[in-house]
Amino acid sequence: MTSLLRQFDQQSLAEIGRELHEFATELYPICRSITGDGIRRTLGIIGAKIQLQMSEVPSGTEVFDWTVPKEWNVRDAYIKNTAGRRVVDFRQSNLHVLNYSKPVHAKLSLSELKQHLFTLPEHPDWIPYRTSYYKLAWGFCLTHKQMLTLSEGEYEVCIDTTLENGSLTYGECCLPGRSSEEVVISCHACHPSLANDNLSGLAVASALAQLLSGKDLRYSYRFLFIPGTIGAITWLARNRENVSRIRHGLVLTCVGDAGGFHYKKSRRGNAEIDQAMAYALQHCGETSEILEFTPYGYDERQYCSPGFNLPVGCLMRSVWGTFPEYHTSADNLDFIHPDQLARSLRLCVSLVDVLENNRHYLSQNPFCEPQLGKRNLYSSTGGKSIDEEINARLWTLNFSDGKHSLLDIAERSGLPFASICDAARLLSEGGLLVETSGEV
Ligand SMILES: [Zn+2]
Repeated sequence: MTSLLRQFDQQSLAEIGRELHEFATELYPICRSITGDGIRRTLGIIGAKIQLQMSEVPSGTEVFDWTVPKEWNVRDAYIKNTAGRRVVDFRQSNLHVLNYSKPVHAKLSLSELKQHLFTLPEHPDWIPYRTSYYKLAWGFCLTHKQMLTLSEGEYEVCIDTTLENGSLTYGECCLPGRSSEEVVISCHACHPSLANDNLSGLAVASALAQLLSGKDLRYSYRFLFIPGTIGAITWLARNRENVSRIRHGLVLTCVGDAGGFHYKKSRRGNAEIDQAMAYALQHCGETSEILEFTPYGYDERQYCSPGFNLPVGCLMRSVWGTFPEYHTSADNLDFIHPDQLARSLRLCVSLVDVLENNRHYLSQNPFCEPQLGKRNLYSSTGGKSIDEEINARLWTLNFSDGKHSLLDIAERSGLPFASICDAARLLSEGGLLVETSGEV
């Protein structure tokens, strides 16, 4: 079988991890949102690595039950005390401004100001990340410690933002394969300085696209870099006619933290991507857990909405909302690790290997075993043990009934998927198997 993983493993994992982390570091300072120059700049940086096709969808465009919002951009934001000193300063952290705040410039008492402040009393040193995309509001996020230092008095608040007709931006990287059937990898790119929830997915997906570029691929691959929720909804609304091409899909996020893997299955629950990911996880040498589909989470919510019901799962390490750093300033560059990023990329490569090589065959000699000896198929090709090779051929012959995929046969036999794929190739070269669609 063609093994992308074998090629991947020839490189140093430490070096790959360092590059992934450096890429996240480059993207980290940008103030992103679901629209605006932050996401454009981010896509520009990704587009310097891989070929990205950019789309701009005007504010006001109806996308299913939603409307593309006005475009939001931020120049500056601060709270000044009576001495004129900035006590909260957007220039120090882009999390300080409530994302999508309307512009405001006013003088307020402390009690009036407090109605617009968000803190995390349980983590007094962290700044929370808050948004108000679809309800016009303004506010500041700050550490609880910072808030406790604010004394009575008059404060000058300034949020220098624009919220005007513009557009929603997303980027697509399309890698053509031999088939027009697609594998879609989707990542949200709308969070400001948050590393695991956002940047880890962008870094791993960009690197995967880079790895697959120029390769002879069975499937076509489409990488989507989109704002969360509204981006996926917009993409689906504009590509409604094309989604039948999607054979497998994966939402990629939170893949850089120290936790083990979690894979949330597609709504179908038994899609090939679910089986392939379970297999890849089982053999990746790390702890992992498979979760059933729920209609809450990342953009799999949109891809798996009942009208689409696409075979799209979601890969994470720690699950969103379960780690205290989630949606806070503690989800920073120290929270994601080069080694974990590299291992997440490695898992994705092994998943692609399974998808690329998983096929169905039909035995041309189903009545009793065919005589392998007279076809020179009862001897070793070298490399693996003769027992494993012959065993793999017998299993593949027996279960190539058009219903069992090679992955089914690997699972049932307990033999490595690669051995089953090698056996299938030899047997079909020997005229004993013919590939089928698997839709028997
Ligand atoms: Zn998030």
